[in-house]
Amino acid sequence: MQARLGAEWEDFAAALEAPPPTSVRLHPEKGADLFPQAAPIPWHPLGRRLPERPAFEEEPLWHAGAYYVQEASGMSVRVFVPQRRPLRVIDLSAAPGGKATLLLGELGWEGGLLIANDPDPRRRLALQENLERWGIPAYLLTGRHPQWWAQHYPGSFDLVVLDAPCSGEGLWRKDPAAACHWRPELAARLQRLQRNLLRAAQTLVAPGGTLLYATCTFNPAENEENIAWAFAALAEWEPLAWPGLLPEAITPVQAGAGWGYYFYPHRGPGEGFFLSAWRRKGSPRDPSFSRPPTSRAASLALPEGLLSGEKGGRWWALTEAAAQLVPSTLWAANWEAFPLWQHHRPAHAAALLSRTLPKPYPERSLYTLEEFLAYLRGQIHPPQAPVEWVSYAGRGLGWLYKGKPSLPFTWRRFLRPR
Ligand code: SAM
Repeated sequence: MQARLGAEWEDFAAALEAPPPTSVRLHPEKGADLFPQAAPIPWHPLGRRLPERPAFEEEPLWHAGAYYVQEASGMSVRVFVPQRRPLRVIDLSAAPGGKATLLLGELGWEGGLLIANDPDPRRRLALQENLERWGIPAYLLTGRHPQWWAQHYPGSFDLVVLDAPCSGEGLWRKDPAAACHWRPELAARLQRLQRNLLRAAQTLVAPGGTLLYATCTFNPAENEENIAWAFAALAEWEPLAWPGLLPEAITPVQAGAGWGYYFYPHRGPGEGFFLSAWRRKGSPRDPSFSRPPTSRAASLALPEGLLSGEKGGRWWALTEAAAQLVPSTLWAANWEAFPLWQHHRPAHAAALLSRTLPKPYPERSLYTLEEFLAYLRGQIHPPQAPVEWVSYAGRGLGWLYKGKPSLPFTWRRFLRPR
C-alpha cells in the first residue's frame, strides 16, 4: 500500500486507526425525511453520514425498515444500475443484504425483479430478515451456487451483481480481528473462487446487460487482476466508466481494458471497496413474461400491483411487475418470497410492507421508546380486534395478535437479558 499510495500513505494508515464512520441509506418510501442534519453521501441521494453510531437495535425506525445501516462506499453500485425498466437483476452473493436492499430501492414496486441469492444458509437468515424489514416485495430469495444459475439461466439478467467473498482488507478497521485471518494462501484461494464466480456471472448477463464486480479488499490480485483476466480477449464486452464527474473521494485504476474504482478510507466517507462495471454488447430484448402460480388469495385485500400465492401452507407476496419476470421454470425451484400470511393471520413481514395492506386493520400507534419497548415485551393493552397493525411514527412495525406482539429473530435477540 505504501508503494501504491506514495505521499498519501500516512493519511491512509491514520484512517485505519480512526473509528469507522457510520452511515445509513434511507428507504425511498419509509425514510425519506429522516436525519435531515446528517451529511450527504456523494454517490447516493438517500445516503447519510451520521455524526455518531446510535444503538440501532433500540431504534424503532430501524426495526420499521425506515433505513438500512450500510457503509458508504458500497452505496456506489447505484450509479451503474441501468435506467431502463423493467429490469431482471440477480445479486449472486447477497447476504446480509446491503446491495440487495439498495437494488430493491432502485426497482421499487414497478421496476422489475431481484433474485437475492446467497449459498450460505446462516447468512441467508440475516438476508431474509433485512429484505422483509425493507418491505419492497419484488424479490425471490434463493441459496444456489452461481454455477447453478449459470447452467440453468444463461443470458437471463439485465444486471448481475457479484459482490464477491474476498480477503476483506477494507473492513479491518470495522473488525480488527479479521486481519488475523489474512494469509497469502487464503488470498490466492479466494482469487481462484472469484474467477469461477466471475465466469458464472458473465454467463448470466443478457445482451445489453451490465455486470458489476465488487470486493471490499485493496488486494489487486482479487480486483483489477481478476477483471483483466475475465474480460481479456472477450470482444462482446465493453467497460463502463463512472457516469459524470468522478467524485474526488474515488481513485480510478486501469483494470484490463477497462476501469476499477477504489474507495480508500482516508479519502471518503466509507470503508475500503473496489468496483468495476462492464456491459455485454447487444440490444436488450424484451424480457419474457411468465404466469405466476397464484391461487385463491388469502383473506386479504392486497395493495394494487401485488400478487400472492401459497407455498407449504404459507402465503407469499410478489409485485406483479416482478412476478412477470420470473422465468417460468423457476417457479418449480426452491425459493422464498416475501411472507404475507401464515398460521391464519398476517405474517410479521406484512406489517412492514412499504405500501400498507388496504384491509382495515385497526391501527395501534406508538410514539415513544417506552411504548415501543412495552410492545416488544407484550406489555401493552390487549387489542380490541383479533389483530391490530402496530405503527411507530406512521411506519408499520408489526402486529398485535390478541395480546401477543409479532416478533422477528432480531427482536428476540434484543429481548434477551444483557
Ligand atoms: N452483498 C452483500 C451486502 O451488500 O450486504 C455482501 C456480500 S459478502 C461481501 C460476500 C458473500 O458471498 C457472503 O454472504 C458469502 O456467503 C457469499 N459467498 C461465499 N461463497 C460464495 C460462493 N461460492 N458463491 C456465491 N456467494 C458466496
